[in-house]
Amino acid sequence: MAEADLLTRLAAIVGDRYLSTTPEDLIQYGTDRTRHWPPAPLAVVRPGSVAEVQAIVCLANSEGFAIVPSGGRTGLSGGAVAARGELVLALERMNGIVAVDPESATLTCEAGVTTAAVQGAAATAGLCYPVDFASAGSSHIGGNIATNAGGIRVLRHGMTRAWVRGLEVVTGAGERLALGHGLTKDNVGYDLLQLFIGSEGTLGVICTATLALAPPPPPRVVLLLGAAELAALPGVLVAFRERCALSACEFFPEAAVARVIERHGLTRPFAATHWYLLVEIELATDTATEQALAVFDALLNQGLVSAGVMAQNEAQARELWRLREDISDTLAGWSPWKNDVAVRPALLPAFLERANALCTVQFPALEAIWFGHLGDGNIHINALKPAAWSTDRFRAEGERLSAALGALVQEFHGSISAEHGIGLLKKALLPYSRSAAELRLMRAVKQLFDPNRILNPGKIFD
Ligand SMILES: Cc1cc2nc3c(=O)[nH]c(=O)nc-3n(C[C@H](O)[C@H](O)[C@H](O)COP(=O)(O)OP(=O)(O)OC[C@H]3O[C@@H](n4cnc5c(N)ncnc54)[C@H](O)[C@@H]3O)c2cc1C
Repeated sequence: MAEADLLTRLAAIVGDRYLSTTPEDLIQYGTDRTRHWPPAPLAVVRPGSVAEVQAIVCLANSEGFAIVPSGGRTGLSGGAVAARGELVLALERMNGIVAVDPESATLTCEAGVTTAAVQGAAATAGLCYPVDFASAGSSHIGGNIATNAGGIRVLRHGMTRAWVRGLEVVTGAGERLALGHGLTKDNVGYDLLQLFIGSEGTLGVICTATLALAPPPPPRVVLLLGAAELAALPGVLVAFRERCALSACEFFPEAAVARVIERHGLTRPFAATHWYLLVEIELATDTATEQALAVFDALLNQGLVSAGVMAQNEAQARELWRLREDISDTLAGWSPWKNDVAVRPALLPAFLERANALCTVQFPALEAIWFGHLGDGNIHINALKPAAWSTDRFRAEGERLSAALGALVQEFHGSISAEHGIGLLKKALLPYSRSAAELRLMRAVKQLFDPNRILNPGKIFD
């Protein structure tokens, strides 16, 4: 079918105003936060219902064009990039909270609702949706489920997967499936719902979701600690975990803190040191604050930490969190080459030592900024582009760094993508974390749900 006819058919499904081919929209909707691939979609379509999504997917099957499902486009692996003439299917109009069910402690919403809006609706009902990260104001629930997003409280609440109780999806073959139905327990054969979580838009378009909600969180106390040595950080985590109800444990270096403070004009909490650890503790008991301070004192005496502050109120807690949460956006100015690796927390000290040596010895020209979710064994290693380097030279070196880290991760039986997914960015690294047999089965699953390969082709694997 000629392109003009195709666009006419799409406009007939969604209405003229929800189909766009303007250059601004093609650029805006054709990329995520990676910026490595120039956007080049065919068009952007914004359906308003599951029926419209299904009609678009069926048309793609009959006419043989590719679709890129698109949420908030905050992804960090190129999953939502449309660089090869695909149709962007943006879920943003499907952004309603359908129902909150306090008795079942669940919330049902459309896929295009933002993570923050879900958190807000849960809080209004006196409950909590505890999955959280710095992009929550822009990312969509559909995107969070499609990437199985993690975030800052995984060590307490788990990843997105832990909270999904139901999904309505349109598969790549155009079938409409209602899965899970909000149930907590449902052992009826293979769990198809789980397959869509983390599938990065390659198996189906997520249209609605039912999420479990938690009780409202207890008050929290937030501490920021300074340490001279990277090697000290895992010991600090263990000390707090043994005596406190940890809800977050994040680490980051002075190189990131200095940039965040400069960009946002923040106040430095204490004199600069090499490493920082942000610890958030739930005040579940009357003595929780004293216990946290006792752990801090002991760590000071042992010389594992060199300085620290405890937030005295919620405003101060939020200020301390900014030092961590603003890192990703602040570093965007240096076009970082991102690595998102994980090892079992017990292996962290050995892994950090080896990875640190690898970066400094083999890649001395790249400034590597390390930060992440220490409590989950998840480290983001962002290599910054030297100003004098061309994009191509930097990319080649970034790929070499990722491969070297991949080989190290494989030695530790870790993950080359802890929470950001594979998308376009990490396809070459798959064999470091998945066996040939696993990859063969993954491709067979893709074939089953999307036999004509119309959904996000080229993402996860070619
Ligand atoms: C400042 C910042 C901080 C971040 N912090 C974290 C963090 O701590 N933890 C973390 O895990 N991630 C983090 N991210 C990454 C990102 O926010 C998450 O991956 C998020 O889940 C992506 O959601 P999105 O709606 O933006 O998805 P998009 O980027 O739009 O899409 C991501 C993938 O999901 C697919 N997709 C989107 N919607 C659907 C749908 N309805 N149906 C099927 N497939 C769909 C896309 O095709 C793509 O493959 C961060 C990003 C930024 C910019």
